[in-house]
Amino acid sequence: MNLDTEIKFLRGVGPQKAQTIEKELNIRTFEDLVYYFPYKYIDKSKFYFTTDIRSDAVAVQLKGVISNFRLEGEGRKQRLTAKFSDERGSIELIWFQGIKWVQDSIVKGKEYIIYGKPSFYQGWTIAHPEIEDPIKQQGAVPVKFYPQYSTSEGLKTSKINSRTIASLQKNLWSVIKSSDIEETLPNYILRKFHLMPLYDALRNIHFPLSDDLLNKARARLKFEELFYIQLNILKFKADKEEKSHGFVFKTVGENFNNFYNNYLPFSLTGAQKRVIKEIRKDFLTGRQTNRLIQGDVGSGKTLVALMSMLIAIDNGFQACMMAPTEILARQHFQTLKDFLKDMPLTVEILTGTSTKKERKKIHESLEDGSLNILVGTHALIEDDVVFKNLGLAVIDEQHRFGVAQRAKLYKKNSVLPPHVLVMTATPIPRTLSMTLYGDLDISVIDELPPGRKPIKTVHSYDSKRLMVFKFLKDQIAEGRQVYIVYPLIEESKNFNYKDLTDGYESITRAFPQPQYNVSMVHGRLKPEEKEFEMQRFVKGETQIMVATTVIEVGVNVPNASIMVIESAEKFGLSQLHQLRGRVGRGDYQSYCILMSSFKLSTDARKRLDIMCETTDGFRISEEDLKLRGPGDMDSTQQSGTPMQLKIADLVHDGQLLNIARSAAYDVLDLDPELSKPENQILRKRRQVIFNKEQHWSRIS
Ligand code: ADP
Ligand code: MG
Repeated sequence: MNLDTEIKFLRGVGPQKAQTIEKELNIRTFEDLVYYFPYKYIDKSKFYFTTDIRSDAVAVQLKGVISNFRLEGEGRKQRLTAKFSDERGSIELIWFQGIKWVQDSIVKGKEYIIYGKPSFYQGWTIAHPEIEDPIKQQGAVPVKFYPQYSTSEGLKTSKINSRTIASLQKNLWSVIKSSDIEETLPNYILRKFHLMPLYDALRNIHFPLSDDLLNKARARLKFEELFYIQLNILKFKADKEEKSHGFVFKTVGENFNNFYNNYLPFSLTGAQKRVIKEIRKDFLTGRQTNRLIQGDVGSGKTLVALMSMLIAIDNGFQACMMAPTEILARQHFQTLKDFLKDMPLTVEILTGTSTKKERKKIHESLEDGSLNILVGTHALIEDDVVFKNLGLAVIDEQHRFGVAQRAKLYKKNSVLPPHVLVMTATPIPRTLSMTLYGDLDISVIDELPPGRKPIKTVHSYDSKRLMVFKFLKDQIAEGRQVYIVYPLIEESKNFNYKDLTDGYESITRAFPQPQYNVSMVHGRLKPEEKEFEMQRFVKGETQIMVATTVIEVGVNVPNASIMVIESAEKFGLSQLHQLRGRVGRGDYQSYCILMSSFKLSTDARKRLDIMCETTDGFRISEEDLKLRGPGDMDSTQQSGTPMQLKIADLVHDGQLLNIARSAAYDVLDLDPELSKPENQILRKRRQVIFNKEQHWSRIS
């Protein structure tokens, strides 16, 4: 045999089963099965008595009889309970699903082995225990680590469960010899990091012989997975750098110094200083800069961008700043103009709504070089926008831009591509950013300007709405302004604005004219209507802004100090965090009020709790990652990297990721082309992984 053999030739698998398994789990060959890892292990060597159960921390295996079935509740609340007794005592079993199956298949009075995690509710209870007939376990050696494999609905209907897969693994491993499994890491790496050989690791991941061997197997496989990802990214980055010469900005001159000494209205935070230093260093290397600046909302990224643009200008270049929306572009334009109002520099804005006349003027001044800074939306990268000498492009809130747009920017200059700074307020855990944006250098502004009062966040149920309104009225009476945000319900391709318009009506009823004025902004408005409403709010003509998440990004109205989020349970964590970031920008105590109905899923409740607990964007993104899994981190993020890790996990394996990254770095440092004999394994394996990914991207 070899690993390419199809599983239909494995003992216990016929063509029918093979087909189902391939369809459901994408397992076609022996190798696929080898790499289908268990997600946990059950200790089958030890039996507990019902009277031994002391905590809900460990799952237990029990032997006894099941009796006293009782059906309780109606409809969706229906549940089945039963009594489970052994020779010393009894506990309760409970099922919320699959009730009929349980009723049909459990034989009363017969001895069963059950397994599950107990919880305490007027006595010990196990919900949805795994149930096994002891006859089937007979003869089997009781194992301490019995592997559990994920299955799918489709498999269950075909009567293939975790146990079936475990037994297939057994059959498979009885025919695999160590020579069948080719090592995928060079010897010198195995030795250096004390890693287990691949064959042993794979064998022990399915059938661990001890805790120690299981840990070693896991460590080896996780390392390998992370190592190859990093090797790939670093190699890609190195290849790119090789080719990408960039402008050298030698001088930090007149404009930078003039601004810094005379017009900067406050002192920079330590983090801002550090990041500006990192950028200055980039500008001297002779390579094109591609740097991601991560900083929580309000950390002062715009200023860092501005000072970097001044360096470009000091070296005789132009700069541009691109934002994802018209509102945000206008805001940046205003901010930059305010900062630069007493300096001899020109700033213009170009968006989809710019008139022909405005465009003409901008195009001319861009081409003759008299325009220093151009702010805008996507309109900036249209082909007819030609710079005389673009030296630096800043992209704000980059998760809204695609890679293709970044590439278009690179071509804006005939000589060399401009330096690119990407700014994002979506803090993502370092482990993830290293994997997703591994080709960008990363700077983090991890400090907020001094004197900010932390935003107070509370969760309130819809039933307390009157109290919340009263609070808003008090705040408005003190001169503050309020955002009220409604979720958009996506119905297939259309968005449903009903919540928003209903909300607007009830708000105008609760906050009547002439005492109160309410604005409304959403994505269906024309840009100029949106702008008009925004401006009314900015000028303080309206006290309340009812909106969808169009205001999520970038909006800066320091007098608005209260953010009310309706149906907060429908938002993801990072979105809630972004929305909250719209307040807390002035000198006033700010508040974020999360409204929800009583009915909350466990995850939704957790999200709201986390929001009330912390304002630290990095912590929130870690929690987000934990709750959602890396697979669906912010679906708008253009990652291009399939984050389907088989065994490593970016939440817990950060340290290992660092080790793997530096190992990959060292390898490429000594052998950039992977041409040394000892690295042929790496070269070959990279190719295999690459081919697989190609295959996958073709399928999806
Ligand atoms: P971000 O884009 O990172 O969310 P901004 O650049 O919009 O943050 O900055 C938020 C606010 O903080 C702005 O009003 C800005 O002028 C102000 N700010 C920036 N840096 C500082 C600083 N070092 N000290 C005080 N205020 C600052
Ligand atoms: Mg910003």
